[in-house]
Amino acid sequence: MSPDADSAIRDPYAFAGHGEFRERIRHLLAQSVLPHADEWERSARIPAKGWRALGEQGLLGFGHSGEDFLRSAVFLEELGRTGYAGVRAAVGVHAYMAASYLELFGTAEQKAGYLPRIRSGELVVALAISEDEAGSDLSRLATEALSADESGRYVNGCKRPVANGSQADLIVTLVRTRQATSERGLTGASLVLVDAHSPGVTRRPEPMLGMRSADVCRIDFDQVKVGHDQLLGRQDRALMHLMKALDFERLVAGILAVGGVHSCLALLGAFVREHRVGGAPLAAKQAVKHRLADLVAEFELVRHFAYRAAWRHSQGDLDSQTASILKLKATELAVETAQVCVQYHGARGYAEGSAAARHYRDAMAGTIAAGASELMRDMIFEGMSYEL
Ligand SMILES: Cc1cc2nc3c(=O)[nH]c(=O)nc-3n(C[C@H](O)[C@H](O)[C@H](O)COP(=O)(O)OP(=O)(O)OC[C@H]3O[C@@H](n4cnc5c(N)ncnc54)[C@H](O)[C@@H]3O)c2cc1C
Repeated sequence: MSPDADSAIRDPYAFAGHGEFRERIRHLLAQSVLPHADEWERSARIPAKGWRALGEQGLLGFGHSGEDFLRSAVFLEELGRTGYAGVRAAVGVHAYMAASYLELFGTAEQKAGYLPRIRSGELVVALAISEDEAGSDLSRLATEALSADESGRYVNGCKRPVANGSQADLIVTLVRTRQATSERGLTGASLVLVDAHSPGVTRRPEPMLGMRSADVCRIDFDQVKVGHDQLLGRQDRALMHLMKALDFERLVAGILAVGGVHSCLALLGAFVREHRVGGAPLAAKQAVKHRLADLVAEFELVRHFAYRAAWRHSQGDLDSQTASILKLKATELAVETAQVCVQYHGARGYAEGSAAARHYRDAMAGTIAAGASELMRDMIFEGMSYEL
């Protein structure tokens, strides 16, 4: 029912040694994530020693571009396949979504100062873009760093929700550095690297329905000093940077969700074969078989599209429409699969501590975080270029 490590070698987007690489990643995640993930869910974070263990195994340092990203795609799918979307969100934000801003727009000093410590897990990084009034519509951005002197700027405002919020040492933060010149679009914004331990930074947990180990917080900034050397990329030109980084974020979120669907399908497939109703396994019923068959068919299509999108990114050719299609389809399939998973588990799937319930809670975050499904549909429509 699900593609195994060996069959992956036949995928057109596979690289040399793909199968062995996938096996190794699966083995490392089984050691460094699975034995601890329930505890991380309970404590709502990956603890410092968990981050360091991931770093020591090399799991926080796969590449963001070129052929290296094909290895990342395998890692991200396998991370999603652990079935713990909170863990995958925390690691995804740290090693990919937030780190990508440094990779893409950081100075040589910023890269040398932060990236090795991010890859080793010594330093945890968060990405603070969203605000109460600025989620899908970033033109409402209110956090500002308008006042400046010769040594730097002062950040004021509130970011929420922010994954890795309480554990972060570094916060890649979107701020307004110039008064908006237009009602529409994001103008006059910049990215800054905020030291999370600076005076004036206050972090408060904001417990979520799901993705519990993602350590989601509200972060308040009150006159937080950032030096001029903490500006990331071009001043007042964050929109240009975000357009590139958000496509990457959606690619990553989509591949992670593909792994999540894989995990949920495996749980569902095992359950319907084993659980008996009316003297026969659920899987003996045609309605059940066909429901699972539809999900498997959708999964295989989305999974292939995910690797196609990863390959396009590796060629420097990822476009917003492709990233949005993947993010939309993978996260919506995760919701559908999790709903079927709970349904066929019956009451035992609705129990608080069950894996089916965790998939169900987690899946609903996927269609909101990293761009709501409706925004993805807008982007897909914008990219439509078919001719009669
Ligand atoms: C678990 C979790 C972790 C997160 N982590 C981070 C993080 O680390 N850093 C960060 O910066 N942000 C984070 N976010 C925030 C996330 O990026 C935002 O939730 C997302 O961008 C949507 O913004 P919003 O929630 O403000 O919804 P809004 O923009 O207020 O939209 C509300 C709803 O309106 C609908 N909608 C929106 N736009 C349209 C449209 N054009 N047409 C029709 N309907 C529409 C959608 O259904 C949407 O869900 C996280 C969110 C979650 C759930």
